[in-house]
Amino acid sequence: MPKMTCSCGNGLNLQKIPCEIQYNFISDVDYDKFHGSIDAEDLYQEMKMFFKCSDCGSLWVLWDGFDENPIQYVPVLK
Ligand SMILES: [Zn+2]
Repeated sequence: MPKMTCSCGNGLNLQKIPCEIQYNFISDVDYDKFHGSIDAEDLYQEMKMFFKCSDCGSLWVLWDGFDENPIQYVPVLK
């Protein structure tokens, strides 16, 4: 998935390494498995990721990696 288009029409470039619009995260439960000094690659493998559209702020979350379609979360301004 080197490139995808947000619902707002903005093209999301996912090819750069590191990728400016990619964020990596891990659940508190999964992070709890790590103790002491940890290997960055091991941690990276456990993390999930999302991409943030720079135009509309939508988050495209890959809950199950690139094998599944990303789920869009649209910001609601109050
Ligand atoms: Zn967008």
